[in-house]
Amino acid sequence: MIGNLIIVSAPSGAGKTTLVSEVLNRDERIKPSVSFTSRAPRNGEKDGVHYNFVSADEFRAMIERGDFLEWAEVHGNLYGTSRRFVEQLRGEGFDVILTIDVQGAEQARKLFPDAVGVFILPPSYQTLLDRLDTRGANGAEDLQIRLRNAQDELAQAKHFDYIVINDDLAQATNELAAIVLAERCRASRRNEQVAKIINTFE
Ligand code: 5GP
Repeated sequence: MIGNLIIVSAPSGAGKTTLVSEVLNRDERIKPSVSFTSRAPRNGEKDGVHYNFVSADEFRAMIERGDFLEWAEVHGNLYGTSRRFVEQLRGEGFDVILTIDVQGAEQARKLFPDAVGVFILPPSYQTLLDRLDTRGANGAEDLQIRLRNAQDELAQAKHFDYIVINDDLAQATNELAAIVLAERCRASRRNEQVAKIINTFE
């Protein structure tokens, strides 16, 4: 059985990266998709772990080759999800989690109508501002772009299957982990197991 595709979106600063890594630490059956990006690495970010960092030219060549399941320009940089990487992991039975922006989420959900969309909200504008400020974003201009984009992104929340409000990290982690678990238990995903159990009664 191929794994589920979980799409997580949120405005920058909502804390989705921390939240997703908490869930990944808890659950060995879910793997992250490592995106490609043309943006420069931040301090501490490792190539191949946090992102695959490529030049804008390399990124465009990948678009031409059809390498991306979805891609988008976000805050002035290019980001994309490798089609092959995701297919391979799902084929191995892992659930795959994409942490992507709302434009990418829309593309991915068109391509995979069974994908599960989760939108992460910060508890308030002030919290978002504080979190972006603390992180330093990539400079003052970048911070302004991210804040402006946040409002448009929030308007997309209604298109997702689930909403997680990231106020208390432990609570939000429980909620996201519960969504992943519940989706695994969907009746439509358990037909084979059910048939096997029924067979043992005959
Ligand atoms: P950051 O520069 O803060 O790492 O990411 C900026 C935005 O790009 C975030 O909303 C992040 O989720 C999104 N992003 C990261 N990887 C991808 C991707 O592969 N595709 C799309 N569409 N967005 C991505």
